[in-house]
Amino acid sequence: MTLIRIKMHTQILIAIVLGVLGGILLGPMASVFSPAADMFVRALRMMIVPLVFSSLVMGIVNLGSLKRLEKMGARALVYFVSTTVLAVVVGLVLVSLFRPGIGSQGNLLPRSTQVDVIHQSDRFSMGDFFAQIVPDNLVEAMVKGEMLPLIFFSILVGAALNLLGKRASGFTLFVDGLNEVMMRISQWIMALAPIGVFVLMAVMVGHTGFVVLKPLALFVVVVMGAMAVHLGVTLSFFLLSVKVSPRRFFEAILPALATAFTTSSSLATLPVTMDSLERRVGVSGRVTSFVTPLGATVTMDGTALYTVVSAVFIAQVYGFDLSFVQLFILSVLSTVCSISAAGVPSAGLVTIVILLRAVNLPVEGIGLILAVDRILDMFRTVLNVYGDACGAVVVARLEGEVLEAVS
Ligand code: ASP
Repeated sequence: MTLIRIKMHTQILIAIVLGVLGGILLGPMASVFSPAADMFVRALRMMIVPLVFSSLVMGIVNLGSLKRLEKMGARALVYFVSTTVLAVVVGLVLVSLFRPGIGSQGNLLPRSTQVDVIHQSDRFSMGDFFAQIVPDNLVEAMVKGEMLPLIFFSILVGAALNLLGKRASGFTLFVDGLNEVMMRISQWIMALAPIGVFVLMAVMVGHTGFVVLKPLALFVVVVMGAMAVHLGVTLSFFLLSVKVSPRRFFEAILPALATAFTTSSSLATLPVTMDSLERRVGVSGRVTSFVTPLGATVTMDGTALYTVVSAVFIAQVYGFDLSFVQLFILSVLSTVCSISAAGVPSAGLVTIVILLRAVNLPVEGIGLILAVDRILDMFRTVLNVYGDACGAVVVARLEGEVLEAVS
């Protein structure tokens, strides 16, 4: 009973520590927790489609006038794009400064020949990217969990309901009800988050351990360092500029960060992110329900940063000198690809292949970083979710909301 009274973020931290210890102690036997871990992730994923649809639609209906949609949408997009670009810049600066790929060629190159993990990945085409935002079959998009088409459709439905007003009130009421139901179920899942985080962590550590291969250590340090700078400096700057305390915000959003860390999926984390924003940070449902689902898909600062650093690292190992134009292409592509990438585990790996192809680097270079991708995925997903949540808070403040819990 006393456990209930411990604050949520303390419970989560305890869960992470216990999970790591449990994983170390049990080793592969930690897989006894696998069914529970699976159940937690499946419960989160089960929420994604109905939650994104109902919350985006109601987010737009509740705006009142569509003029506000333009304003809030524009603010959110400016935030999303500028933070992602900054993340890429931070990554580029650090990887160019520390050059983790220089000097380790001898250790790294032989292994790369054994790899053929990613074969399906296609070339990136701007035209296709835009065309595919429009679903040609809504049900198929939902079944496959394709987020951009779902978001596109939800925005159309929201805008139509907004304009139709009373004439479609029956349907609006239904979606509103659906949204309330989804938020309530999210609260239940959130209450289970400490247990979910514990089992996921134990299974992860028990299975793979935290072994980071030595030749890759500098690469890992550069990626993590760049992510820390982005989270601690760049995003703090955004928060401070709207008078939000980064420390209190971090604490309030911790359940979402821990869920992101252990699931490696920003989409699966969405129910927890929304719940934390509304009930712990105090952001209105109006802003949360519009900005957060959009952000979970569109803004992935961690992924953009990771993919650009990885591509440059691979170039360094293979001894390619990248020209300014190539670096520019990598930066633009990593930003755009992070927008189109899905918030699921290892999505960033596919993006790296696209980047390598774009500037004619050897695609098998991806093999160099496979060993540490799983662990870095956990960290970049945290940054993805943190950036998304920051966006909601910044927009809320710009809309004049008073967020006492974090100011
Ligand atoms: N796992 C990341 C996410 O869900 C995406 C990635 O692989 O970078 O946000």
